[in-house]
Amino acid sequence: MIEEPLPARLPVTDRTRHRRLREQGSRERAELEAILDAGFVCHLGVLVDGRPVVVPTVYGRDERRLYLHGSVASRSLAGDTPVCVTVTHVDGLVLARSVFEHGVNYRSAMIHGVARKVTDGEEKLAGLRLLTEHSAPGQWSYARRPSRKELAATTLLALSLEEASVKIRTGAPDDGDGPDASLGLWAGVLPLTTVWGVPEPDPALPARTAVPEHIARRAGTRHG
Ligand SMILES: Cc1cc2nc3c(=O)[nH]c(=O)nc-3n(C[C@H](O)[C@H](O)[C@H](O)COP(=O)(O)OP(=O)(O)OC[C@H]3O[C@@H](n4cnc5c(N)ncnc54)[C@H](O)[C@@H]3O)c2cc1C
Repeated sequence: MIEEPLPARLPVTDRTRHRRLREQGSRERAELEAILDAGFVCHLGVLVDGRPVVVPTVYGRDERRLYLHGSVASRSLAGDTPVCVTVTHVDGLVLARSVFEHGVNYRSAMIHGVARKVTDGEEKLAGLRLLTEHSAPGQWSYARRPSRKELAATTLLALSLEEASVKIRTGAPDDGDGPDASLGLWAGVLPLTTVWGVPEPDPALPARTAVPEHIARRAGTRHG
């Protein structure tokens, strides 16, 4: 079945309507996709036994949905329940003249919906491939793929990317043109970046086992 692409503008629903710091909100799906593609760890918020839990976990995606996975024993992955997933990138600390105006430069996305447990074998394998390739491009072809037993021990959830929101803050502190500008204090942004390091071989590897190119080439590149 060929599915229609999701609208280029993110929907304004009761849940996604920005109420505070609205000027940081974006309605562009392209911004949502860029935020999702820049990371691979999200936070999954879900009620477990009536209480909220927020679980950091990796994800993958296609054009329409986010995929999350874990152990079949994981209660946060029960599925068929409302969830809220966030992805956050911190780009810098905004150091203002007043403590009140301090902030963070960031890109963040929030996805609301009901996560569906994937039961179809083909979709499960395709979802796990997306998830693996999202954080480690090239590993699906390189590493051993999941066995039947491993697949049975794994839960895969699919969450539609339909109902989502984006917020982005960039730039200088907001008090450069206020009364505090005359305090004579330094103010500005302390940027933050994350960079991939040099691969560290497993000590159990036979000597002279080469680092595969798809891993080696990431060293020194920026993440996020
Ligand atoms: C790293 C980081 C640090 C932050 N620190 C603070 C802080 O210390 N204090 C503070 O007040 N705010 C902070 N924010 C902003 C915060 O995430 C909220 O956007 C803001 O506080 C509004 O919250 P609210 O509950 O009033 O949201 P509302 O405006 O009521 O939220 C309505 C809807 O807007 C959308 N939305 C809200 N926030 C976000 C978001 N961040 N990303 C994507 N969609 C969103 C969601 O769909 C949400 O359901 C921070 C954000 C980031 C990424």
